[in-house]
Parts: sequence; structure tokens; C-alpha cells
Amino acid sequence: MNKSKILLIYTGGTIGMIKEAGQPYLSPFNFENILDRVKEINLLNCQLETISINNPIDSSNIQIENWIELVEIIKTNYNSFDGFVILHGTDTMSYTASALSFLIQNLTKPIILTGSQLPLGDLRTDAKEHLITSIQLARPYHDFDNNGSSSKVTNVIKEVCLYFDNKLFRGNRTTKVNSDQFKAYASFNYPELAKSGVDLKINSEDLYEPLNSNTIFHNKLDDRVSVIKLFPGISKQIVKHMLFDSYSKVVIIESYGSGNMFDFEWFIDELKSSIKKGKYIINVSQCPKGSVQMGKYESSFKLVELDIISGKDITLESAIIKSMYLLSMKLDFKNFKEMFELSISGEIS
Ligand code: ASP
Repeated sequence: MNKSKILLIYTGGTIGMIKEAGQPYLSPFNFENILDRVKEINLLNCQLETISINNPIDSSNIQIENWIELVEIIKTNYNSFDGFVILHGTDTMSYTASALSFLIQNLTKPIILTGSQLPLGDLRTDAKEHLITSIQLARPYHDFDNNGSSSKVTNVIKEVCLYFDNKLFRGNRTTKVNSDQFKAYASFNYPELAKSGVDLKINSEDLYEPLNSNTIFHNKLDDRVSVIKLFPGISKQIVKHMLFDSYSKVVIIESYGSGNMFDFEWFIDELKSSIKKGKYIINVSQCPKGSVQMGKYESSFKLVELDIISGKDITLESAIIKSMYLLSMKLDFKNFKEMFELSISGEIS
């Protein structure tokens, strides 16, 4: 049987650190020696190669340039490997997963991001299981064929995923929800793609099926995006300042519940004039589960009339990067809105 070829890409974060005996702090280990640290990987039927980004980082420092570097690494190695596993810090992993899902479209192979809450060298580490299972998930898997017959067919995951605490998620649907438990991520608006128990169960009906197999790599994001989180008592001055800031082109407003915003006259007037000045305003809910439904309540009805873009059930992380991606395409308002409200990589229902 042919061995699957997997490329393991190291970006930094807790997963790639160790605490040497007698050493009070965590420090990165030589990543090329990963196979010596996790000998179990040798038992997997795969050929593993490792590569690191130029300067491994704590993921709080991740920038657009790092995402472009990751895209370049994957693009260069795309035809030589069956799947990719990216080791990443947990803090911004959902942003990176979202970014890769827009920057690399029509995938024909899996890209699995994973990290850990405890470093690889820690006795109680979650890193080992995350690493091993992610490599397993990055290989082709067996499934029953579509006719329901019992003959097994070989399939592959064709999307950017995030594996953590026994669950595989669609990456651009995830949010980090916990900084001190192993269950660090949630996907509120989309089911898990796989569960790792005694068996590894892939939920094949919910996997993303790209429109075609012509994989496209993008290398641009436009950072002119800002976010206003509404809260009761937010001052008119602050809202005004953020709506009229001269650099941003997209303003994401984090609204309440099903996309409601206060409908004070001053607020509606400010929205109107910033739209007139060319801002693209997007409505994303602060409520992690459920969808924006403008017009359901009187307080959001005016937003429909203003042609505010609906974030539907998108995560804030995805909304930010999707805006950066669509802005880089220099679309006019009509096309931007149309594309934002449609799914590009399964980020919106
Ligand atoms: N600050 C670290 C990072 O995101 C946390 C982690 O890896 O869990 O890189």
C-alpha cells in the first residue's frame, strides 16, 4: 500500500515548545526532530516531511504576511503531498483557518490546523494526540459509496479544518472559547466534521465539496477593515469616530441577537452618511449561535432599507478575513454585498 505523504508545517505556539527539566519557562524545540519526540508517528502509514515558517511566532503576533507565507509554502508543495498539517498557536488559529479558506479555494486535499493547550513536552499534554490524529485526518479516508452500498471508497477531506480536543471542525466556523480547558474551540453554527473516539468517525455529509478541482491560490488581503462592538451606552462620539475614520473601507458592526442595533435617529443618520461616503457596513451578531435576520424586529428594519450587508451566521473571525479578501478584489458595493452574503468556502449557511 502506498504511503500518504504529509507535510507538517510549524508556525509556533505552545504545541512546539518544551519545558526542559529544571527550566522554569517554555522554549521552542528543534522542530526537525519532531519524529524523535513523538515516536508514535512512525507507526502511521505515512511519509512525513516537516517545514517551518521563517520565524516561528506566538500566534498573537500573526500578521497577513504570515498567512501569505503559509499559502506560498502550500502552493509550492501542493502537488508533492497528499495533505497538510499546520501546527499553530491557539490564540488566533481560527483567524488563520479562515484566512487560508479564502486564500486557497477549490482544495483537493486536506489542510488541518492544530495546536495544544499544553506543550508537547508536558506530561499531561494534549499535543501528542492532536498531532497524531491531525496527521491521520490529513490522509485519504475510507467511506461507503453514495449509493449506500457497503463497498468502501477512498475519499479525501477538501477543506481547511481545525482539529482540537477530539473534534474536527470546519476551520472558518470556529471560535476560541476557552483558554484554560482542553475544549478550546467551538463551532456554533456548523456541525463537527469528525469525532475521534475509539474510532475516527468522519461525518462525510457535512464535508465541504468545492465547486471544481481547479485549486486557486490568492496572495492578497486588504486590511482596511474595522469592527465596532455595540453596547448599551456606547457614545455617539465613538461610533461617529469609527464610522468616519479615513482609512477603513469596511466597517463590521457587532450587533445584538438576530442582528438588531439601536435605532436612535442619530445612529441611523450616521450610518446613512457613512454609507454615502462609500463605507461598506456589515452586520455580524455578537450572539455566537444563530443568524442575522434583519427586518425581523422593528429595530433592525431600517437596516434593510439602508442596504446593510448581512453577515448571516458567519463568525466575526471569518467576517474580518472575508472582508479583507473581497476588498482585495476591488469590488463595487453591489458585487461586494452579493459575494459577502454567499458562501465562498462554507463559512456561511
Ligand atoms: N499564545 C499562544 C499562541 O497562540 C497560546 C497557544 O499556543 O496556546 O501562540
